Amino acid sequence: AGEISPLSPDGRTELRWLMASDVCKHCTHAACLDVCPTGSLFRTEFGTVVVQEDICNGCGYCVPACPYGVIDQRKDDGRVWKCTLCYDRLGAGMEPACAKACPTDSIQFGPLDELRERARGRVAQLHAAGVTDARLYGESPDDGVGGDGAFFLLLDEPEVYGLPPDPVVTTRDLPDMWRHAALAAVTLMGLAVGGFAGGRVRRPR
Ligand code: SF4
Ligand code: SF4
Repeated sequence: AGEISPLSPDGRTELRWLMASDVCKHCTHAACLDVCPTGSLFRTEFGTVVVQEDICNGCGYCVPACPYGVIDQRKDDGRVWKCTLCYDRLGAGMEPACAKACPTDSIQFGPLDELRERARGRVAQLHAAGVTDARLYGESPDDGVGGDGAFFLLLDEPEVYGLPPDPVVTTRDLPDMWRHAALAAVTLMGLAVGGFAGGRVRRPR
């Protein structure tokens, strides 16, 4: 009595270290690009998404648009920063600094197809070793953002890492919303014209 069990109800030890870098996922369908009014955010020739802090106007539209919450906004002038996957290094033919510096090769860089294949192999290895919760996150082009350019091998549910389990492009409903707004505007115009015409009929009485 009075002892703290070292095991959680599902049999795992209570304390685990789960590591993941909280970076921009370089989404295939990136909502941040849809909302940026200045072109500060743009898609590069490498398929990555980069923010140019020098032309950002600090409006902050991109912050809630990102389904992963990875855009950092400065308090003083509102300008934003995020991982650029080392755009400058890629341009010079080098890999991103994180992949270069990681001593265990936990962060790897390369063509997406190769990385996906390698990651699936690693998950299979982990499953065979009894780590049955191992899974990939963001690697599927069929997910809600069309797949991530930066994907992860997780050892538990995405929520445990603070990741949305089913990310979606937050601007996906915008075309529908504009269509409805346009329809509403046309309807209102019709009502206004109708009222005006009615007024003209009544006025001579
Ligand atoms: S993770 Fe967020 S900031 Fe990065 S590309 Fe996707 S929507 Fe944009
Ligand atoms: S805060 Fe900057 S990067 Fe974000 S939407 Fe506004 S101008 Fe674009």
